[in-house]
Amino acid sequence: MRVLANDISAHIEKEIELLGWVAVRRDHGKLIFIDLRDRSGVAQVVFLPSDKSLHAAASELRSEWVVMIKGKAGKRPAGMENKEIGSGEFEVAASELKVISKSETPPFDLESGGTDIGEEIRMKYRYLDLRRPRMQNNLRMRSRAIKFIRDFFTSRDFTEIETPYISKSTPEGARDYLVPSRVYPGKFYALPQSPQQYKQLLMVGGMERYFQIARCFRDEDTRGDRQPEFTQLDLEMSFTSQEEILEFIEELYIKLVKELYPKKHITQTPFPRISYGQAMEKYGSDKPDLRKDKNNPNELAFAFIVDFPAFEWKETERRWDAVHHPFTQPIVENTDDFRKKFDKNPAEILARQYDLALNGFEIAGGSIRIHDPELLSAVFEVMGNKPEEIKKQFGHLLEAFKFGVPPHGGIASGLDRAIAILQNEPNIREVIAFPKTGDGRDLMMDSPSDVSPEQLKELGIKKVEDKT
Ligand code: ASP
Repeated sequence: MRVLANDISAHIEKEIELLGWVAVRRDHGKLIFIDLRDRSGVAQVVFLPSDKSLHAAASELRSEWVVMIKGKAGKRPAGMENKEIGSGEFEVAASELKVISKSETPPFDLESGGTDIGEEIRMKYRYLDLRRPRMQNNLRMRSRAIKFIRDFFTSRDFTEIETPYISKSTPEGARDYLVPSRVYPGKFYALPQSPQQYKQLLMVGGMERYFQIARCFRDEDTRGDRQPEFTQLDLEMSFTSQEEILEFIEELYIKLVKELYPKKHITQTPFPRISYGQAMEKYGSDKPDLRKDKNNPNELAFAFIVDFPAFEWKETERRWDAVHHPFTQPIVENTDDFRKKFDKNPAEILARQYDLALNGFEIAGGSIRIHDPELLSAVFEVMGNKPEEIKKQFGHLLEAFKFGVPPHGGIASGLDRAIAILQNEPNIREVIAFPKTGDGRDLMMDSPSDVSPEQLKELGIKKVEDKT
């Protein structure tokens, strides 16, 4: 029966079978040692010179070969223990070896943390890079954090609901990824920048408490540590308040840190709530880093930023735009009051909008939504949308709001960023299994790539030749 590397201590003096990769081979002449890696960790295997053919076979082993080894588990001789690894007091004396598959020499070292290896090569051979213990740990902790989040929200009566990835283009801040329709030539779907409108429509649908671990797609220009697709914890609630939403997120992160990162400490609980105005004045940032000691890798300084302005002037487009998104509720009494205040000074209108900052990064953002269709239309209008455009782009939402819309609000938290900070990783690519490079390429699959003329023809698409 197969035993995992980290479990050999439970099988002392027994014949066991190990399966995994050769991490390192150390040839000491008479004795050959193998560090065998599997999903649990590494185990030391020793080949004694007494069995000549087995010893000879072991001397052929190379890094990253996949092998099956049978042998007897035992304690290492005194003084030979390795405190660094889980199975460090034990080893397996091999009696049988089978090479399952061989490996070429890997293009880089897999034992180190890997941070000093060029990222391009790590990305090209990501499947090898993932074998390093640091990456294994990152992905396992990510999985545990996501499970924790799922349990947290389902136990509080939230329903996890999937919303479409093939959707409709709506202006929500960034550029959309478009998907051409084959059946309706010349028409396009869009990949969602977030499930924003769907989750609001779920509130109209009476679900009341929704969450989702959602993939979001934004076609942005290269901006350092961004990804064309990223993962959010997305949630929405009906009959709620800003404070209730903040308390849910606060409780989630406090409990998650306590359960999964017991060595870390949170600078201040309850998380401070700082107005946008104060944050800008005091720290010059709407995501201030409030750690007391920035050299301490185990300090987590969370802070809610509240009372954002509703609108900001976009000089390039010469129009007022929503600071968060157009669905965010401005703090006004009604549509007339809104128009009056907007005519007076749009910059002075505040919104029921909030962010969560962690160690100088924004890790969540959300708002209470406008549920009055008249006010929502007025907001679209002051942002420069013509009535026909409003109908075309948001008609479905305005229509839905005519059928008994509950007041609602929500938040979304960027999980890649949150997990990168918790894992002490410098960028989100370290906690994503198959990320794109900073400039949006998948070097392993070689994407984006050309497609066949037949595919383009089917979609009714013609390439414009580059004349430069
Ligand atoms: N959809 C928003 C975002 O992705 C979050 C929210 O308002 O709930 O930033």
